Amino acid sequence: MLSIHNLHASYGKVEVLHGISLEVPQGRLVTLIGSNGAGKTTTMRAVSGMIRPRAGTVTLGGRDITGLDAHRIARAGLAHSPEGRRVFATMSVTDNLLLGAFPRLTGKRARGDVAHDLERALELFPRLKERREQLAGTLSGGEQQMLAMARAVMLNPDVVLLDEPSMGLAPILVDEVFRIIARLKADGVTMLLVEQFAQAALEVADYGYVLENGRIAVHGPAHQLKTDPKVVAAYLGGSHAH
Ligand code: ATP
Repeated sequence: MLSIHNLHASYGKVEVLHGISLEVPQGRLVTLIGSNGAGKTTTMRAVSGMIRPRAGTVTLGGRDITGLDAHRIARAGLAHSPEGRRVFATMSVTDNLLLGAFPRLTGKRARGDVAHDLERALELFPRLKERREQLAGTLSGGEQQMLAMARAVMLNPDVVLLDEPSMGLAPILVDEVFRIIARLKADGVTMLLVEQFAQAALEVADYGYVLENGRIAVHGPAHQLKTDPKVVAAYLGGSHAH
């Protein structure tokens, strides 16, 4: 389980997160929604060690991971699939996936069977399976996004952070990404999902938090948020509204 308590984060002197608290219980899918610039990506970065929080605590399975370096946080069992397509362009799909498992080889956690997990990841992402020998830089944007997700899963993590996995994808690939998220959830993977498609995120999630200007404005079971008049007005106006 991931717990975030009173998290503050800044860029230089500008504070972006003003004390947010949220919980992602074991085996649950929790979504964080909100307008552009609300601080969703900053939350993910502060949790995974890409930036250092200014105050507050982050615990993973009861262990305090606040402010640790990103590689230590990965070794502790937290995987981050970042916004954008951060893959290793000059390496093959398979090698990108194997790199995702690398922190397992150096940490205290069980290594498990990396070869087996590679096959499982490729089954989950058939587009990647077809292209396993291809250089990642030659994949389409959507395929690179999937590779970033699959690489996060290769850590065999306790918690996965998924930052806008659908960003910039064609509608057919957006549907595929949400199907994969539902499959991961059915497999018991614990996830925190940031999504621009608030409606779709609330369909698949158990619980949701709405972030406004660096503060949690509302939270509750996803099915309740979907019908909350304020949430509907602000974020669910159109079928795929922010
Ligand atoms: P989006 O959906 O647009 O990515 P978001 O909710 O993820 O929105 P963040 O990316 O967390 O929002 O940004 C929150 C605020 O922090 C914004 O005002 C943004 O301009 C600012 N910000 C983000 N990254 C940086 C950075 N590297 N340096 C300075 N300011 C930043």
